[in-house]
Amino acid sequence: MIAVLSLGADNRAALRRLVETFDLPRLQPGWVWLAGAGPGDPGLTALHTLNAIAEADVIVSDALVNPALLKLARPDAEIVDAGKRGGKASPAQDDISRRLVGYARRGMRVLRLKGGDPFVFGRGGEEALALVRAGIPFRIVPGVTAGIGGLAYAGIPATHRDTNQAVTFITGSGAKGSAPDLDWSAIAKGSPTIVLYMARKFAGEIAAKLIAAGRSPHEPAAIISNASLKNQTTTVTTLGELGAAAALADAPAILVIGENVRLAAGLDWLGAALEGRSLDPDPLGRDRLTDTG
Ligand code: SAH
Repeated sequence: MIAVLSLGADNRAALRRLVETFDLPRLQPGWVWLAGAGPGDPGLTALHTLNAIAEADVIVSDALVNPALLKLARPDAEIVDAGKRGGKASPAQDDISRRLVGYARRGMRVLRLKGGDPFVFGRGGEEALALVRAGIPFRIVPGVTAGIGGLAYAGIPATHRDTNQAVTFITGSGAKGSAPDLDWSAIAKGSPTIVLYMARKFAGEIAAKLIAAGRSPHEPAAIISNASLKNQTTTVTTLGELGAAAALADAPAILVIGENVRLAAGLDWLGAALEGRSLDPDPLGRDRLTDTG
């Protein structure tokens, strides 16, 4: 136990030195930092966020935050689990905002830690506005969002000049617990690549709407579960099969639809490193086309 505590203290001292080296701000009493923890791999977590974990008096953490990060917390820090997972009982959003305000008013150094980026499908904006209304000073620390970092860990560039010059991020769960009410036909026509968060449940319905709006059922799609964690899995499928594949996928999962998915055959660096998978230097078949043409 003593060894564990002193290891934490060593890590906090090392972080303090980095703060001084770069002249970074410190989490002050009465402040709230709303920080992104990234998709899971602790190596993707910003230095500001690591510093705040090490300095906070109270850490209000989401379900998707890698618990390993909390090893940096002070032994006397209060850790509040505000995990909100679809279907399971979870504290109401107002409740969380009220707690953040309460802790800050008591002069505590408050860290609100969220998976990925706090401003991407994370309700960070709502919590920050509650702080503004209460006159609490705050800082936002962006994080690597699953829809970009998760794709990178599967070897899928979010944009690639030859496949997609635009990308759309969409939540697959609408406010009323149904598929979101969007202009799917406009999205089908206007967005070559579509990245879906929280979409396992309605993936089939969304895919059907996109196909009805003219997208090919043969278009490539991928599902990345537990992105950037040791149990990451990637399933490459097609738009037509996406609903069935999503129903079998582990949570959390990010879904991506578009020709850029083909690049995984060339750029799955993690699969190549861990499983010795070979990488195709021409995953889009461009050179082969040129050679024969
Ligand atoms: N603020 C977060 C998103 C929160 S919504 C962010 O910026 O990433 C929760 C959804 O994020 C999950 O349902 C899933 O679609 C996605 N997600 C988060 N972490 C993930 C991970 N490690 N692997 C795959 N998907 C993830």
